[in-house]
Amino acid sequence: MTPVPHLLAQIYAFILGACAGSFLNVCVHRWPRERSVIKPRSRCPSCGNQLAWFENIPILSWLALRGRCRCCDEPISPEYPLIEFIVAIGWLTALNHYGFNFTALRVAVFGTTLLGVALTDAKHYLIPDGFTLFGFMFALITSVIAFFRPETQPFATPYDSLIGACAGAGMIAIVGWLGEVVRKKEAMGLGDVTLMAFVGAALGPTKALITVFVGATLGAVAFGLIVIPVAMVRRGSSREQTELALGSAPFETPLVPFGVFLAPAALLTLFWGDSLLAWITRT
Ligand SMILES: [Zn+2]
Repeated sequence: MTPVPHLLAQIYAFILGACAGSFLNVCVHRWPRERSVIKPRSRCPSCGNQLAWFENIPILSWLALRGRCRCCDEPISPEYPLIEFIVAIGWLTALNHYGFNFTALRVAVFGTTLLGVALTDAKHYLIPDGFTLFGFMFALITSVIAFFRPETQPFATPYDSLIGACAGAGMIAIVGWLGEVVRKKEAMGLGDVTLMAFVGAALGPTKALITVFVGATLGAVAFGLIVIPVAMVRRGSSREQTELALGSAPFETPLVPFGVFLAPAALLTLFWGDSLLAWITRT
């Protein structure tokens, strides 16, 4: 078999990634609203004009239309081409790192699915089953296929994949349960459990546990750096205005979309989980 010329493979990966990013946009937009991602075709959210094929080309259409609807001239969010571009760069990076092979495809799909999880959790405080169920099935099936291939895999073997799904889901369920006992209210949704079943199926039991650890660390840092100061400032300024009314109000900790932190943690663990584990067991 003649190898695919590298530049051609790079262009192919970028285009494929942009198309995956485009479909990801549809999933992120529609799944939280419980709408089908297959039909109907995309419409302008302002005027409802159904997009022609040339208005639906990833990245390029947005640039050609200068970020406005052709029909009603309303601005189209730059989030769409941005996500298409990020996913395209991700797929290109996977190709450059792993080569034109099955592993690169698995890493690219894993990262894209995690990005979808993080986006919907950040925007809507929910993780659609579409992402986690797809990711779970993809991880299980590709682990079996990869078992018969010569490439060295950063992913789990079929056996570890099954154990990992249970370990990941179990671990996050325990964390959620303990959090609920401490905070005396629901701390974690079922979405986090299904997310960790998916991540565990991809990474195996050890790395699933590392993912929860890394995700909790990222979450704690972000919570400390952003959420608490913002809440304190808001509380302080409003207290000055209406001191009597708000002075006795309890400090309400905001809801934390944990998937926003678990998703990048899973990707970090895929790449550096082994190094982190070696470092932890050495010290
Ligand atoms: Zn329009």
